[in-house]
Amino acid sequence: MGKNLTSRQEDYSKWYNELVVKADLAENSAVRGCMVIKPYGFAIWEKMQAQLDKMFKETGHQNAYFPLFVPKSLFEAEEKNAEGFAKECAVVTHYRLKNDPDNEGKLIVDPEAKLEEELVVRPTSEAIIWNTYKGWIQSYRDLPILVNQWANVVRWEMRTRLFLRTAEFLWQEGHTAHATKEEALAETEQMNNIYAEFAETFMAMPVIKGSKTENERFAGALETYCIEALMQDGKALQAGTSHFLGQNFAKAFDVKFATKEGGLEYVWATSWGVSTRLMGALIMTHSDDKGLVLPPKLAPTQVVIVPIYKGEEQLAEISKTANKLVEELRAQGISVKYDDRDTQKPGWKFAQYEMQGVPVRLAIGPKDLEKGTVELARRDTLTKEFVKQEEVIEKVKGLMEEIQETLFNKARDYRKEHTTKVDNFDEFKKVLKEKGGFISAHWDGTSETENKIKELTKATIRCIPFDAKKEQGACVLTGKPSAQRVLFAKAY
Ligand code: AMP
Repeated sequence: MGKNLTSRQEDYSKWYNELVVKADLAENSAVRGCMVIKPYGFAIWEKMQAQLDKMFKETGHQNAYFPLFVPKSLFEAEEKNAEGFAKECAVVTHYRLKNDPDNEGKLIVDPEAKLEEELVVRPTSEAIIWNTYKGWIQSYRDLPILVNQWANVVRWEMRTRLFLRTAEFLWQEGHTAHATKEEALAETEQMNNIYAEFAETFMAMPVIKGSKTENERFAGALETYCIEALMQDGKALQAGTSHFLGQNFAKAFDVKFATKEGGLEYVWATSWGVSTRLMGALIMTHSDDKGLVLPPKLAPTQVVIVPIYKGEEQLAEISKTANKLVEELRAQGISVKYDDRDTQKPGWKFAQYEMQGVPVRLAIGPKDLEKGTVELARRDTLTKEFVKQEEVIEKVKGLMEEIQETLFNKARDYRKEHTTKVDNFDEFKKVLKEKGGFISAHWDGTSETENKIKELTKATIRCIPFDAKKEQGACVLTGKPSAQRVLFAKAY
């Protein structure tokens, strides 16, 4: 069937790429670094979107949409942000093609159609949005503004990888405006907490919440909070970020508001985003050598029913039982597909649904009709059992919870086993080489040390965890004093 994957053990990166393609999630396109998200992959992304969107709206946010293009003069207004993204910007310089007079049938850029001002394809939208907010905000009565947009952005990444890092990616970006610093900081924290809750409850992916060091901070932010996850190869993945932007963008775009007390002050800002990278995170957290493993809460199809039959008559009998189960499962809010196609054999279907990570598979054959049973297979544990037909609905309902929990616990146990406290640099290098994962170590707080460690080991500080306890120690590289441990890892 050509469905076998390279094992994770053999070549993790190859395993990942093969899985993404064979599970029908996405593929590379004719455009360098840009992917095609296929219907099955997009269905999972839509489930993520729907849940996140609900959580944003429950906390008072509204969706809006801003232009894809940012005039260069606006883009460069906030200098740090512009400098940070400059190297990855795609820029539109012309607005027309014309026939090449020297080469019939070919098109060339029309030199007469040069834009007066170049347009940057948004790598992030603070500039265009804060330029817009200037017109929306006059007084404290106009605040807060709690806006989110679902959009695509472009960052001209040199080393790309399906979902995890692409040149064009889909994301949501929240952009909020506040009257006080405290309120903006609270929003930054709230959104990071929402990301963590989404990752843990829906993706069944445990995350560490923390703040980024200055090196890793978003360009133009005063603080970047993040959620960090650990993949099955021991590498960390930044899964979401929430930025406290202070008054940087308000100053760059001259956005002031009249205070209640009659003063005039700059507005406080936040921005926060998660992207299609979450798809990569989901795949890498749970999947195995047989293919994708999906938590029930994000599976487009939670249960598939496959009939095993010879001839029309037997199929008709089995379909009676199957259709009744479909109806009853749907009534319980469970998404179910009855695959009675006669174009594929049951074995092919089993392999396909295994590859695509459908959490529960039910198979019904003539023997099951006699005995009043169905065969139930779990994708996460790869176990099979026979279940009485009248008990199937309750059983499946329970499994939706149980599988979700099992996946979370397994990922959390893996992370626990792959988080190591380290107190000297030899051990640091040894653990990183032999075991990988998170290394919890003391750091003297300087960018210089962080850069040196990165240079020597490729490990970076993933975050300064919020829940780390204060503890006097000595920096793992320099021996200088440190007040708490931070988390290092090699990262995607
Ligand atoms: P940022 O605006 O840099 O804080 O990024 C917002 C979110 O998008 C983070 O969760 C990043 O991990 C993610 N992200 C950044 N660059 C890419 C990329 N090239 N492809 C996919 N996701 C990305």
